Amino acid sequence: MLGLMQDWPLTVDRILDHAKAWHPNREVVTRSVEGPIVRVTYAELHERARKVSNVLQAWGIQQGDRVATLAWNTGNHMEAWYGIMGIGAVCHTLNPRLFPEQLVYIINHAEDRVIFTDLTFVPLLEAILPHIPKVERFVIMTDAAHMPQTKLPNAEAYESLIDQASADVKWGDFDEQTACGLCYTSGTTGNPKGVLYSHRSNFLHTLMGLQATVLGATPGDVILPVVPMFHANAWGIAFAGPAAGTKLVMPGAKMDGASIYELLETEGVTFSAAVPTVWQGLLQHMRENNLKLSTVKRVMIGGAATPESLIRIFNDEFNVEVVQGWGMTETSPIGTVSNILPEMKSWSFDDQVKQRIKQGMPPLGVELKLVDEAGADLPHDGATFGRLMIKGPTISRAYFKGDGSVLDEDGYFDTGDVATIDDYGFMHITDRAKDVIKSGGEWISSIEIENIAVGHDKVELAAVIGAAHPKWDERPLLIVKLKEGEVLDKQEHLDFLVGKIAKWWMPDDVVAVDEIPLGATGKIDKKLLRERMKDYRLP
Ligand code: ADP
Repeated sequence: MLGLMQDWPLTVDRILDHAKAWHPNREVVTRSVEGPIVRVTYAELHERARKVSNVLQAWGIQQGDRVATLAWNTGNHMEAWYGIMGIGAVCHTLNPRLFPEQLVYIINHAEDRVIFTDLTFVPLLEAILPHIPKVERFVIMTDAAHMPQTKLPNAEAYESLIDQASADVKWGDFDEQTACGLCYTSGTTGNPKGVLYSHRSNFLHTLMGLQATVLGATPGDVILPVVPMFHANAWGIAFAGPAAGTKLVMPGAKMDGASIYELLETEGVTFSAAVPTVWQGLLQHMRENNLKLSTVKRVMIGGAATPESLIRIFNDEFNVEVVQGWGMTETSPIGTVSNILPEMKSWSFDDQVKQRIKQGMPPLGVELKLVDEAGADLPHDGATFGRLMIKGPTISRAYFKGDGSVLDEDGYFDTGDVATIDDYGFMHITDRAKDVIKSGGEWISSIEIENIAVGHDKVELAAVIGAAHPKWDERPLLIVKLKEGEVLDKQEHLDFLVGKIAKWWMPDDVVAVDEIPLGATGKIDKKLLRERMKDYRLP
């Protein structure tokens, strides 16, 4: 027997409809690429997004067609998103930090028909233009006055298109399983792979994100997503904001510490989200200039493991709670969030930190398990490492134009991460399977060492990779980028680790470099780092 409730397809256009109906005057504030701060209300954003839909339909864009964005976090980018998705077209978010060859690959693979872009990226698109012949049109998200001379074909100014378009359009009214968004993984192994979200998966992910233990967005909050919309949908914030009637503050092209700090303070931001390297930049700026945060209460750190030092500095010096999130492009991205449980509230902060550096628990709708190499389940005892497997309605089951299902026979997706799960249910990432250091048949967590090493006063960034060893196969090598003016004293960095890691995890050497490479999503690029260090030999 079936239930007798209404069939109300879970499509994301309903999210913006809801914001327009119930939170029409709440704002989305943007530091525009042209410079000034621009404000639109959800009612205005809704109307402008519908105009985008009309423009696309006039160009013959139909359900399932891919329309790309190569853009910063801005209100315009949100309008383009909803305008594309509302008519059942697929919004393909392009990451400008990918290598040009990778951008060419994914634009062609996705068969993007139109690209919406910011002024910043016009030269980049012009440079790859000969290699992306199938793109029919380009929309430059600016007004006529700022429109550059460009050789991009059929390039038009966004504001001119909006001015001429009607807002009368039919949104939604298609199957909730319809494809909605496309985001390629940054291809740390092989070519980038396309993750194809559906309206249903994004809608359910939005509900998941609204939980107090995840984003906890309310109309009283002000959220600044530093995490880009092209990095796994800004972790769901561009959906959660309008869903909860939360004011959003979009940083545009400027993501340095000083620019972010200014927006946090002037716009009264209460919550923000970014990868660890961004937060390190902000903290350095605030410490150097003796600044405080007056409205921020919580920050989410994810995309890479959160160093203990970040959690402590935010708590001790800024009275801000760090919440760590773990996820992947393939998981929409929310996988787990680390929230202190009631039984831990009375613990000392030092003891709490031991849990806070773990990646935490899944919200409802995400299933996790650990397995060994043969696929057998492993215990959740906080000590046994295993491959982390994940399942749920917001998790990929195949890649766009891929070879079919990527799931195991029980329907789980292999995250490629190695993890433990403790008695409290807190998952802890040991490493990506390909980064784990194999020393004498045992595993050493590169993440754990680097996250302690980066807490040393002289260190700006730290990375640990396996260096070839005749007896042990691999031994850890600590690579540091020192703060300006500092000089390397190897012993100092090793002494700093004593007592904090197992003796046999102690790096065999420490090397200082001028630059630790960051990948397209702002995380340390271990693959490139290993490549650069390939001629290095342990002493
Ligand atoms: P990429 O950056 O490779 O394009 P993702 O952004 O999807 O792709 O990266 C997902 C991976 O990032 C995870 O599989 C995991 O290895 C790592 N990651 C994400 N969040 C965390 C975290 N909080 N702690 C440790 N690792 C994390």
